[in-house]
Amino acid sequence: MNTRQQFTSDNYAGMCPEAWQAMMQANVGSLIPYGEDEWTSRAADAFRALFEKECEVFFVFNGTAANSLALAALCQSYNSVICSSYAHVETDECGAPEFFSNGSKLLVARTESAKLTEQDVRLLSTCRSDIHYPKPRAVTITQPTETGELYSLSEIRTLAQTCRELGLYLHMDGSRFANACAALGCTPADMTWRAGVDVLCFGGTKNGMAVSEAVLFFDRALADGFDYRCKQAGQLASKMRFLSAPWVGMLESGAWLRNARHANTCARRLAEQVVGQPGVSLMFPVQANGVFIHAQPAVLERLRACGWRFYTFIGGGARFMFAWDADMAEVDRLAADIKACAGAA
Ligand SMILES: *Cc1c(COP(=O)(O)O)cnc(C)c1O
Repeated sequence: MNTRQQFTSDNYAGMCPEAWQAMMQANVGSLIPYGEDEWTSRAADAFRALFEKECEVFFVFNGTAANSLALAALCQSYNSVICSSYAHVETDECGAPEFFSNGSKLLVARTESAKLTEQDVRLLSTCRSDIHYPKPRAVTITQPTETGELYSLSEIRTLAQTCRELGLYLHMDGSRFANACAALGCTPADMTWRAGVDVLCFGGTKNGMAVSEAVLFFDRALADGFDYRCKQAGQLASKMRFLSAPWVGMLESGAWLRNARHANTCARRLAEQVVGQPGVSLMFPVQANGVFIHAQPAVLERLRACGWRFYTFIGGGARFMFAWDADMAEVDRLAADIKACAGAA
């Protein structure tokens, strides 16, 4: 088995000790299934405490389900959802948002990075108002974005205000939400409902859990029927405690934030070592736990020959993502290899 650490994605990591510990603690006794157990209510309460809000909380198996079902809850089948051309919902969910909403169309803004602007939202939501166009009903933003960037709080507030004005809901894909909190040093509440976000998908997998994403509805009325939606989509775990208990471990111990801080630190550490090297440049500002490196194809080939695995699906650059378990010595080794491979040009 090849156990060498790779930074191909932040889902290469296993479970962090806090999640694992809670999973073991939950593996005791016979408990009521389908989320009626104590672990699940404790996890939901931990979210309410963290977000300082009496929100509705649901746990599903993965991010594709979380995003798709959350968006479906906001839309009728004739509605549409505005997103960036880099958005995971558009590029990496195999049409699930359209499928689970029975056809709500994604309206894609051709953005330069993965960040949507107020102008993008205005343009796509006001360019047509006739009955032949799928009526815009929601905007989805990813925080941090697929390109490793952050929306500032004021950018989120501006987008939310624009949404209100135009009669749109604001959904946040937070598959790496913890990394955004760690990077901006703000509270989860400030980044979401206080800024005007209606629904958040909070990622557990990339934060150090085995499985499970939380869907948070800050306006409880929007969650009406969401339990049925989850069940119908095959996302209602009968042994729900194993999806919820690890969240108790993550939130009550503070591991969610520690893990994210560590991952962000590793990304900065790699970026600092390679920036300014001839033949290497950063494609996007490094603001969370991802680093995107632009280099000649021959350089990337050599890097692969050194044994590093990475994706190039965003603009042909090499993407490196860091998780809770990233080993600093391995980060430094990657930096040294990048420098060597670029220098050999
Ligand atoms: C990883 C990821 C998801 C969730 O993906 P799943 O594989 O379905 O769990 C959602 N959004 C973004 C931006 C992601 O990177």
